[in-house]
Amino acid sequence: MQVIETIDGLRSARRALRGRVGVVPTMGALHDGHLALVEQARQDNDAVIVTIFVNPTQFAPGEDFASYPRDLQRDVALLQGAGADFVFTPTPALMYPPGFQTYVKVDQVTQGLEGDRRPGHFRGVATVVAKLFNLTQPDVAYFGQKDAQQVVVLRRMVADLNFPLEVAVIPTVRESDGLAMSSRNAYLTPEQRPAAGVIYRALVAAAQAYEEGERTPAHLRQVVKSVLKTEPLAEVEYVALNDPTTLVGVHEASEHPLLLSLVVRVGKPFLLDNCLLPWALNTRAGLSATLGV
Ligand code: AMP
Repeated sequence: MQVIETIDGLRSARRALRGRVGVVPTMGALHDGHLALVEQARQDNDAVIVTIFVNPTQFAPGEDFASYPRDLQRDVALLQGAGADFVFTPTPALMYPPGFQTYVKVDQVTQGLEGDRRPGHFRGVATVVAKLFNLTQPDVAYFGQKDAQQVVVLRRMVADLNFPLEVAVIPTVRESDGLAMSSRNAYLTPEQRPAAGVIYRALVAAAQAYEEGERTPAHLRQVVKSVLKTEPLAEVEYVALNDPTTLVGVHEASEHPLLLSLVVRVGKPFLLDNCLLPWALNTRAGLSATLGV
């Protein structure tokens, strides 16, 4: 496995590759969720490029850009084990040199949910991912279900800007109590960590209610909130039901699949999670067919 730190180095490595190329963009501080993306990329492709870049433009002022966990040495060892061929580790100065002024703005699907909670976030994400696509020229790019709105935004960008690649969606990888793996889980204290398990129980309760025939969005959200309320350390930011293709809010009962997403604050971190309803859609095939365009 080769670690590449320059644009020229990446371009020449890419030019030498033949066959299908998969890319996995990450911000590092890798966990088994990231490694599931890399392992899937390894299975599907002839070569795998992983990028590690804590992208300053997707952090709003006051967010945790400076303190975001970074451990490149550990990440490189994990990626070697997972079968990556190349790791691209640019600096902010390399990605955003003086004079940089071109950004990608995706319209409707960046509104609501994380787009409202984190102004400017998806502009930063779309811009850096467009740059990484141009640099790595992948056939397939792998993203996690955990950031479902990100998948919808990037699929929209790929369609609208004619990037010649497929966006693959990998189901959320969870800890044993169901907490979605996240680099930001490291911010949880030992006292807060067990409390965060309530998030998964809330999703499962909604899926159960859906299974039993509940379709009214207000009732499904109530099911989620009533489970979250049992945990005093959990502060609800939002619980939302949206159309998984357009992200338009859903307020009437219907038989169309739903994206149930929530953000809950436990101590310092805002913890994100989501599931598709019906629950059976939370597979690679179900997600790929349902989330975004
Ligand atoms: P990040 O490093 O947080 O930018 O994440 C890099 C990629 O890994 C994104 O596509 C995430 O959606 C994905 N990812 C993060 N956590 C998980 C998880 N628990 N399961 C599956 N994918 C994940």
